[in-house]
Amino acid sequence: MVALAPETTLKKTGPLVLVEQKETNAYANALAQFDKAVAHLNLNRGIAESLRYPKRELTVNFPVKMDNGEINVFTGYRVHHSTVRGPTKGGIRYHQDVTLDEVRALAMWMTWKCSLMNLPYGGAKGGVVVNPHSLSLQELEKLTRRYATEISILMNPSGDVPAPDVGTTPQIMAWIMDTYSMHEGFSHPAVVTGKPIEIGGSHGRIEATGHGVMYAVREALRTAGIQPKGATVAVQGFGNVGSVAARAAHDMKCNVIAVTDVTGGIYNANGFDVPALMQHVREAGSVAGFPGCDSITNAEILALKCDVLIPAALENQITSLNADKVQCRILAEGANGPTTPEADDILNDQGVFIIPDILCNAGGVTVSYFEWVQDLQSFFWTDEEIARQLERIMVSAFNAVVGEARKRGIDHRTAAQVLAIDRVAQALMIRGIYP
Ligand code: NAD
Repeated sequence: MVALAPETTLKKTGPLVLVEQKETNAYANALAQFDKAVAHLNLNRGIAESLRYPKRELTVNFPVKMDNGEINVFTGYRVHHSTVRGPTKGGIRYHQDVTLDEVRALAMWMTWKCSLMNLPYGGAKGGVVVNPHSLSLQELEKLTRRYATEISILMNPSGDVPAPDVGTTPQIMAWIMDTYSMHEGFSHPAVVTGKPIEIGGSHGRIEATGHGVMYAVREALRTAGIQPKGATVAVQGFGNVGSVAARAAHDMKCNVIAVTDVTGGIYNANGFDVPALMQHVREAGSVAGFPGCDSITNAEILALKCDVLIPAALENQITSLNADKVQCRILAEGANGPTTPEADDILNDQGVFIIPDILCNAGGVTVSYFEWVQDLQSFFWTDEEIARQLERIMVSAFNAVVGEARKRGIDHRTAAQVLAIDRVAQALMIRGIYP
């Protein structure tokens, strides 16, 4: 199959123009990864092209009355990339830097992630351009309920099921579920995942992404012949994904030597007591100031000599500008899109074992799928059952990706995308092109 040049196809598609054409445009990067993978598949050109673009995109601008009585207008998005394999699934991000291109990229990655894990979903993503930490709790609830109402023309339990992402929480998912249910007149727990357990959330969902990251890291350590005990680990981002992954690394007897968040970072060559660090973050609001450590910047943590580096913050952290400084043996992508295609080439040349995002952080959507199934059946599983099924699916997908990479002589990310894209393409061809 011919790899489609992004510029050519984008020009032809008219409205689908990139906001910015540069290395850190997540959508341009998602397209470049797609084109690289599609070149290894013998797909019909039109089928490949139809998987290249989001199926539908919604932009909403909506007013919120703030605590001081002023009315502020916020912009939000919901993008469905593909509905070929089932309802769309994907998180909602609250961050001041959210753009339509970022949401498109995240939606596309969700399609490949769900396909790779063999979950019966297509990909979606949503976002609101807002710093959630600048809002009071009441403002956050009003913004969430209004955004949920605005996107409810796309969101429903059988069509599109959101979940948490950067800046959103189980409480925010609860407000979304309640808003949708109020409009429908009865409770719809399955409209959103990542909810509190009290209203139909699943055991293990909060920890799912971080635990999934460490199942993948454990397999990568095994493959690379590194003992988990004493393996050095650095984690960028200490939110839902990063803090749970760090805790799981600690439980595996790895040595967590560096952690950063948006406020700064800490380093101790002898390793931290991660549970104590989590307690410190709960009290102080950031990792900064944890006793007995040196400080470390976000640029420094990426260049730290360690066995495992876990970027668990935002996109575009490892680019052509700093990839040659990366010294880890295993790069476990807890975040979505932390590595640009240019950086990928450099890291692969350096022999870094990359666990690509659509595999590494797929534990979250996998347990979201379990939550959705439990909600639809009104029958809830135990913590042990969730953990067992998650481990089984993560290990199986890890082996499939490493096996595909070996078989074709290609890098892990391309192998993961080849498996995922091919599965969606086959489903599309079996369904056929309507009408
Ligand atoms: P979160 O909001 O809980 O945490 C984000 C963390 O990153 C915070 O500690 C924040 O301080 C830190 N951070 C933000 N900007 C930073 C910067 N410039 N430098 C360093 N640290 C910075 O978000 P999360 O849910 O943990 O998501 C993190 C990443 O994982 C995102 O890429 C997200 O898309 C991805 N992800 C999340 C899930 C999930 O279930 N939450 C699932 C799959 C993938």
